[in-house]
Amino acid sequence: MPTYTVHAINVGSFLLGEADKVLTLFSMERGIIRAVAKGARKPNTKMSGRSDALCVNKLLLSTGRTFEIITQAESIEGFPEFRTDLTRMSYALYYVELTNHFGQSLSEESESYFDFLLNSLQLQARTPHDPVWLCLEFEMGLLDILGYRPELTYCVVGREVLGEYNLGTFNRELGGVVCQQCSRQERQLATRETLRDAQFERDPGWRNGAHITPLVWKNLIIAADRRVSEEGVERTCVVKQEAMQQSVEAARRLVQGYIEYRVGKRMKSLEVLEQLKVR
Ligand SMILES: [Zn+2]
Repeated sequence: MPTYTVHAINVGSFLLGEADKVLTLFSMERGIIRAVAKGARKPNTKMSGRSDALCVNKLLLSTGRTFEIITQAESIEGFPEFRTDLTRMSYALYYVELTNHFGQSLSEESESYFDFLLNSLQLQARTPHDPVWLCLEFEMGLLDILGYRPELTYCVVGREVLGEYNLGTFNRELGGVVCQQCSRQERQLATRETLRDAQFERDPGWRNGAHITPLVWKNLIIAADRRVSEEGVERTCVVKQEAMQQSVEAARRLVQGYIEYRVGKRMKSLEVLEQLKVR
């Protein structure tokens, strides 16, 4: 059987039989791969500690009929830090949930995406930067790689240059910010259409868009450039101020909503935090 080596992050799994697991891996060499980890659910086997989500391993795989088969595994990273921090772990699991979802589209740029994901997990595990902020940077980075980077410089309707003074709404369907003037016109149009849609029972909800404040807009721009984690701009002291923190959270919710709109479903990893109201 042909074998090959990959460096991979575990991004998902499901159970197979009594003792095995099928892992979804994001590998540096080939992007998304599904592989059987034999004995992963028995204690003290070579895979038992290496098959959890977020583990990073060097693996020797052999080509199987339906799934690849893991024949050797060597641990690279286990991220023990996450075990004692539910908040950071939830964000990390959200990263891999998104990776699992977008995996096929990321496979062509597997090497750079692997580095990006690993780096983002390390930042979440080992730096004091605000976890919400780091997640926002991750989301903006992911959207950029996927070619869905939201338009924040020009109005997506009328192409006016955007500034703090003319922000209107964030429109998921159009993938960016609509200026005040255009969103006012859109709203008037929507109102007219709502009357008509009411007759035909259509949902015009997308047209309204979400209101975007200058602080939220600035956060999105700074996060898109990864200026905190990569350029070392000190922001942790700033985001602790309450108004700033709220605007970071609002920016992140807006981006998650945009991602979920593109995906067509809700992401589950952060629901725990929502329920516990911790961050
Ligand atoms: Zn406009």
